Amino acid sequence: MTSDVAALVDAVAELVRIPSVNPLHSGPRAERHGPIGEGALAHRLAERFTDCGAADVVLDEVAPGRPNVYGRFRGRTERLVVVDVHTDTVTVEHMTDPPFDGRVEDGHLYGRGALDSKATLGVLLHLLAAWSRAGLRPEPDLLLVGSVAEEAGGLLGATRFRPWVEQQGLRIDHLVVAEPTEFRPVHGLKGLVLAEVTAHGTAAHSARPDLGVNAIEAIAPVVAAFTAEHRRLQSLPPATELGTGTVSVTQISGGTGGNVIPDRCTMAVGRRIVPGEDPADVLDQLAAIARAACPVPCEITSLIPPAPDGKPGSPAFYQRSDAGLVQFLARTAGTTPTVAPFGANALRYSGLARETVIFGPGSITQAHQATERVAVADLARLADILGAWLAPA
Ligand SMILES: [Zn+2]
Repeated sequence: MTSDVAALVDAVAELVRIPSVNPLHSGPRAERHGPIGEGALAHRLAERFTDCGAADVVLDEVAPGRPNVYGRFRGRTERLVVVDVHTDTVTVEHMTDPPFDGRVEDGHLYGRGALDSKATLGVLLHLLAAWSRAGLRPEPDLLLVGSVAEEAGGLLGATRFRPWVEQQGLRIDHLVVAEPTEFRPVHGLKGLVLAEVTAHGTAAHSARPDLGVNAIEAIAPVVAAFTAEHRRLQSLPPATELGTGTVSVTQISGGTGGNVIPDRCTMAVGRRIVPGEDPADVLDQLAAIARAACPVPCEITSLIPPAPDGKPGSPAFYQRSDAGLVQFLARTAGTTPTVAPFGANALRYSGLARETVIFGPGSITQAHQATERVAVADLARLADILGAWLAPA
């Protein structure tokens, strides 16, 4: 390793060694390593931002002990670009590796968060420190965001960052959301509505079903109706690369005993939504389908906390693939633009910037695993790409 690459690896490893497990992913193994949550990492990032010459550093408390952190680095022009990296990681309870050791082996840096998504933070800190020492500044103003609660809890950090931008009156030109995308600019994500349907029957002895109303039997045609709706959606021509919406029944529960006619049955139904669909309208459609199919009274409620705009779910994220940022990243990385099936903070950033893209090293299929690692070569490649984008001089 050259000294420059070693310093780059160290910058990422330092962040991996600061546990930042999402509180909803807590467990005994994570707890042995110190406080759960993003707080320690956010405070360390604030220090590092200052060391690297940030003009402004803000800790923005999203939940107790869980601040977003914002660092603004002055560029040579008025243009403003943002890189958003979530600071939380998924659970470490199933890991077969020491979760936070940040060791380098076989050309890879290991540890929870190395890939998803501390690599981008570490690489940027390395670049900003080097530029600061050399008296260089990026071409645009750079706002570097460490956001909490991406992996679980409803994208709270991104939800908080958005009104902060609006309060500051910032106009963002390019917004890059860091996630493992194998260096392919991801320009579309489906949105999600997740709902619970409850059918209400009447309990009775199962020897006298005629005296009750069976809620499980009542919900069966609702399952069939959602399957039919899924098939209908598949038959529609897709409007974008994201394809069509989908419907999946994912959970069902009901019944209190083998000899009791169940008076209640609930099911979870997920609807992936595409650009142009509104979560509130989609929830209404699901409710209408459930009520039409269910022979007993039923109700439907969203399982997702309302978005800041009050919507019961996330609309899709979609950026046209011919946008300058998408094309620049694809050209510089030698990859092609794509769309992705996973969720990300970009679902909260619709319209926040002139152009938005999700981008980073490594594959999402390698994230959240029993081991987690990022290739050292990918860190160097990311440094080259971000350097080309930010054009220090
Ligand atoms: Zn991630």
